[in-house]
Amino acid sequence: MRSIEGKNPEPRPKYIRTSVSGIWDKPSNLNNVETWANVPLIINKGHAWYTGIGTEKSKGTKLVSVSGHVKNTAVVEVPMGTTLREIVFDICGGIPGDKKLKAVHFGGAMGGSIPENLLDTPLDFDALSSLGATMGAGGMLVLDEDTSMVQMTRTLLDFLSKESCGKCVPCREGVRQMLKVMDRLCENKGRPGDIELLEDLCEVSRKASLCSLGRTAYSPVLSTLRFFREEYEASIAP
Ligand code: SF4
Repeated sequence: MRSIEGKNPEPRPKYIRTSVSGIWDKPSNLNNVETWANVPLIINKGHAWYTGIGTEKSKGTKLVSVSGHVKNTAVVEVPMGTTLREIVFDICGGIPGDKKLKAVHFGGAMGGSIPENLLDTPLDFDALSSLGATMGAGGMLVLDEDTSMVQMTRTLLDFLSKESCGKCVPCREGVRQMLKVMDRLCENKGRPGDIELLEDLCEVSRKASLCSLGRTAYSPVLSTLRFFREEYEASIAP
């Protein structure tokens, strides 16, 4: 390929061509402050002390950022294995106005929604993953009985569509098309086939996106479809 000036263009550095690579295309160790904060404690107290906290496969403690319909929004540090119910009710005081809890959305925008009847799930990587949620950065959004799960999911998709860098089509267009469907559903103008269309878009985005944003953007949609499908069905126009 030649540039319009007739010179060979400068080869682009390899690290620009890939979506997932270390700095200057070398292995790079990036950890968040929460991880680093554990290191001196493990060195000083030993691995047996650290692994004595938590569940069989998820060790130590976790910072959980609790927000939404909860009396005390807070960042709390809890041992792995603490149940979601303990975090919402025992630590954060429950739901304002004595309303019922409908769900918690765990793992940030690319996480999943867990219904009230599964709130005794322990904080554990595998347990959350089996319900379609992720540990992520420990974001926990508490949702009361008046929450529309369709509206909530639309809000998350709106955020994800703005976060998409636009480099690959399955994410850039896939999330945008999901958002269009969600807009219809939020106005109770859903069309027959919209739920299946959403599922198809989720599958394409999951399988064909370049980086983990597109590959996990489907998560809030599929998890709310799994546990709150009747709300989607009720949003289809008669
Ligand atoms: S998946 Fe989304 S965020 Fe990632 S490279 Fe593709 S367009 Fe960009």
